[in-house]
Amino acid sequence: MEKPKHVLLKFLKISFKAYKPYFFVLFFQILINSLMTLFGAYTLSLLISQMEKGVYRNAIFTGLFLVGVEVILSLLNHLSIRLVVVHQIKMSEAIDQVLSKKIMELPFQYLEDPYYLELKKNAEMGVNNMGALYSLMASGAKILSSIVSIIGLVSIIITFDWMLVIVLGVGILLNILIVYFMMKSQVKFYKELLPINFKYGYYLNTLMSPTQCKDFRLYNIGVLLEKNLNSFSKELAHNFRKSNLKMRLYDSLMSTLRYIQMAIIYSMVGIRTITKHLPISSFSLTISSALSFSDCITNIIQSSGDYIRAIEYISPLVELMGISTQEEDGKEILESLDTISFDHVYFKYPKTESYVLEDVSFEIKKGEKISIVGLNGAGKTTIVKLICRLYSVTQGEIRINGIPIQRYQKDHYIKTISAVFQDYKLFSYSIKENIHPEIEESALNSICEEVGIKESIEALPKKYDSVLSKNYEEGGVDLSGGQKQKIAIARALAKQADLLILDEPTSALDPLAEAEIYENFNKMVLHKTAIYISHRMSSSIFCDKILVLDNGKVSHFDTHENLMKDKSSLYYKLFTSQAKNYELNA
Ligand code: ADP
Repeated sequence: MEKPKHVLLKFLKISFKAYKPYFFVLFFQILINSLMTLFGAYTLSLLISQMEKGVYRNAIFTGLFLVGVEVILSLLNHLSIRLVVVHQIKMSEAIDQVLSKKIMELPFQYLEDPYYLELKKNAEMGVNNMGALYSLMASGAKILSSIVSIIGLVSIIITFDWMLVIVLGVGILLNILIVYFMMKSQVKFYKELLPINFKYGYYLNTLMSPTQCKDFRLYNIGVLLEKNLNSFSKELAHNFRKSNLKMRLYDSLMSTLRYIQMAIIYSMVGIRTITKHLPISSFSLTISSALSFSDCITNIIQSSGDYIRAIEYISPLVELMGISTQEEDGKEILESLDTISFDHVYFKYPKTESYVLEDVSFEIKKGEKISIVGLNGAGKTTIVKLICRLYSVTQGEIRINGIPIQRYQKDHYIKTISAVFQDYKLFSYSIKENIHPEIEESALNSICEEVGIKESIEALPKKYDSVLSKNYEEGGVDLSGGQKQKIAIARALAKQADLLILDEPTSALDPLAEAEIYENFNKMVLHKTAIYISHRMSSSIFCDKILVLDNGKVSHFDTHENLMKDKSSLYYKLFTSQAKNYELNA
């Protein structure tokens, strides 16, 4: 994964837009921290200066005043820490929301692309599991407040002797050099660590995931997982040991440098104070400023490590947020569907070489029921994805009422289409909300009756208000695969769309329920146009026409009776082989 440029700037822009108050609180904290550092440098020298003057009464008042200011500053510091913690949580939530919104708005193709799926996972991990958000902000704030303090301290030191600034400056340069090598080695370390950490996270999440418990127990995945986790732990420990050793070396080098620098400063300040007969207070102010200066440099160095690591973790989020979600939209309004036609459509998935659909042409008229059949991988679902505008055709045109579909306003367009995909999802809301939040009770009852789920729903204690899934609601219900599929079909019917697409809608249903659904189909969809994709060939008998797909090409588009006349056709073979199976099973 390539690291995007200017991660910090982009991240600040994203987070500032997401939640502004956090930045004001952070600014407040930086201000208080810097004030405390500068105040710390002044305190002792102020007291000494009063005592030097011999005005002990004033010294007592100054002492009391200083204690008062110290108390106020430390109260403000505690307040700023508390505010930062509270707003940190709000900021995390805001970023989560921004991320979810972005994922919802991403063009669909990204959500089927392994690179972007990995990026999405890493972005979520970086934000939620690695504490990168907090780490980045906290280390950034520490670095910033140290820089502000350094500016203040330098202005104190320079008034005493500008040569001291040169000594401190040389110290900084040497420190920067050491930090540069330190950072280089840290970046290398975290780059190596990132994939191990993500894998570690995956295995840990898998271990915790309730949906994977069954397979876990049945296939003894625990042993494999434990092995993986152990090997990752060893790898992590080895990497950490190596990196720690290096860091200790750099630390010792910096400490030595610090001691040498302080020795030089003490000598210079001492000699100057004695030779120039300067007051002790100015000796104390300069020395405490130099000490604080050196503390600030140590702070910057320590925070830089956290900062670099956080930047590594935050980069996937920044890259994901940088993806453009601006899709071209049409202007035409689609009121109702009269015809839908494929005109020499060619399609290949992004980043792939071969065509999944080649020269596909057919037309469906209002009210017709069409079945699409073909072997696995023939391109049936791809046709549905194209109709739903999840992808755009590579060549050719799909038209509704004679107008290319991309010329319609997407929102209007989507309202005309209802689809149940093989991998449909229901949500952890009530059954009614899943079907249609604003549906009238009578309509809800009749749709559920038509799909054959009314009785089972009414047997539940909370009936249509039962929340799907026990995860988020006490008293929630876990329905069977078949029942869920019926609810998904009810949801598609409740949308009142002109075109209804059912992609393998009955795969989880038992044969009786399946037969019931098909018998009711025509009643359910009434005058609507419908496209069915089903592995059960018998379902095509109910359809006006059948589109036979063979390896991405249209082999036939005709009625069941006509297709059965050609005994060498793919349709005949598919139909008779399955019919035989049914006879055998009967
Ligand atoms: P069917 O529904 O007939 O089983 P699909 O339309 O799902 O077939 O798939 C047709 C072909 O396109 C298959 O070879 C499948 O592997 C490929 N395919 C499906 N989705 C993607 C995708 N997102 N990226 C790349 N290839 C895909």
